[in-house]
Amino acid sequence: MTKILKRMKGTRNKLDDVLIIGTVALDTIETPFGKVDKALGGSATYASFAASFFSKPALISVIGRDFPKAYLGLLQKRGINLKGLEMDDKTFHWEGFYEYDMNEAKTRKTELNSLERFKVDVPESHKGIKYVFLANIDPEQQLETLRQVNKPELVVIDTMNFWINNKKKPLMEAIKKADVLLLNDGEARQLFSTANLASAANSALNLGPKAVIIKKGEHGALLFTKNKHFNAPGYPLENIKDPTGCGDSFGGAFIGYLAKTKDLSERNFRKAVVYGSVVASHNAEDFGLNRLKRITIRDIEQRYSEFHDMREF
Ligand code: AMP
Repeated sequence: MTKILKRMKGTRNKLDDVLIIGTVALDTIETPFGKVDKALGGSATYASFAASFFSKPALISVIGRDFPKAYLGLLQKRGINLKGLEMDDKTFHWEGFYEYDMNEAKTRKTELNSLERFKVDVPESHKGIKYVFLANIDPEQQLETLRQVNKPELVVIDTMNFWINNKKKPLMEAIKKADVLLLNDGEARQLFSTANLASAANSALNLGPKAVIIKKGEHGALLFTKNKHFNAPGYPLENIKDPTGCGDSFGGAFIGYLAKTKDLSERNFRKAVVYGSVVASHNAEDFGLNRLKRITIRDIEQRYSEFHDMREF
């Protein structure tokens, strides 16, 4: 495996704000509103894109020689630090579809490819980054990342059914070491073997995290801490084309906002959850990264104010 950034310009010297490890993927997605083949995707891609509205993300992942140069250019143009992006033979490929209930992605195919041999190697320059997002990837690599970084202030972890089914033991170890656990409702029920989300959240809090966020697709997100509970509504979108990456962009915006404000109070977590919901709602409006590529922080702030309004009574 080679570090591709030796051949790339534009690496930042300053310490970046958020370290994001996850997948960079070529996605084939079908929804009732269309289809894309080998679109740029992956948990670290969506998360970094979303975080970049607020902070400077540094990405850790692996791609293959089949990865289009234009996609690399897009990530670079966004100011995402790609020093930790390695190159192996073939890019991770995910194929999924949605039916009219767009809250649930159904997987047709997961080809791990270069992810199978991938071993995290956090560049020296990234080890002191204080905000770490362990986006959806093999939990063994999430654990390995935590072994390599120096005392982060905040560790957020996300996962999905694939890893709950295949790597539950290291996943539970990684969750114990994280400060915030992000899950969607189906995954929370599966992981903690309960139909009740409040009891799933309590089981998660008993493992170690100080906060648990359960994402409920178009119905918003729930934030549980030891003594408090907050829920953010979903944005009433009329135009949903492709929800792929909503969970990852929620997570990226959540940690990106916290890294920008450097305030880890419960109150600020609530704001971060709303920013997460705002960016995720934009993401669903078009396929792949097409929507996030086009919006600016002004669109985000505008929808954030609408969320405020929606909650006043
Ligand atoms: P979500 O935010 O949950 O919609 O995540 C969608 C992204 O997750 C897609 O771009 C996929 O490439 C990526 N993905 C799918 N399966 C996996 C997996 N097993 N591990 C990590 N990432 C995955």
